Amino acid sequence: MTLEPGQRLVVATHNPGKVRELAEILENRFELVTAGEMGLSEPDETESTFVGNALLKARAAADATGFVAIADDSGISVAALDGQPGIYSARWAGPDKDFTVAMKKVEERLEEAGAEDFSAWFTSALAVAWPNGPAVVVEGRIDGTLVFPPRGDKGFGYDPIFQPEGHGQTFGEMEALQKDGMSHRARAFAKLKAALL
Ligand code: IMP
Repeated sequence: MTLEPGQRLVVATHNPGKVRELAEILENRFELVTAGEMGLSEPDETESTFVGNALLKARAAADATGFVAIADDSGISVAALDGQPGIYSARWAGPDKDFTVAMKKVEERLEEAGAEDFSAWFTSALAVAWPNGPAVVVEGRIDGTLVFPPRGDKGFGYDPIFQPEGHGQTFGEMEALQKDGMSHRARAFAKLKAALL
């Protein structure tokens, strides 16, 4: 199983922030088409792990379109909250996908728990599936600390409260290229590249 330069890849995500990051990470090697552009609906994320959900989304998009598909499932895990929100990261933002609400919820839960440990990590599982064929899945992670109040308006999701280890800025304050060089997705993609390209 290999991926050829220039080949069409269906990106099975409806999140514009992630499509942009994936496009940068994939270094414009492929003809990327989004699941939305192909008229696909988002499958329910019914698995209990990042890996399981990434595989489910890649498989659904590949089988529906007949093209190789790539999907990511990602989220933030907070040590003092036993890894929550984890695979529920998107869902904590509610139906309006309002991450101000989600970040506030994290802050409140930490307060309720009387937490002193603010460590957290982002995980990205990346899966590539061939139509009615095999699939490959890898996982990348970046560790850091949560900061309140949120800082920065770049990035998306939980970026304004996540300060990666060894850095003084949150992901929300960093330039996209700097974040993309170290992100959980970049780390997962490095593994995927080693496996497939
Ligand atoms: P899903 O992978 O689409 O199920 O959703 C993952 C959710 O995790 C996103 O909606 C974001 O809220 C959050 N997330 C994943 N990666 C990042 C990131 O790089 N920065 C900020 N939030 C992220």
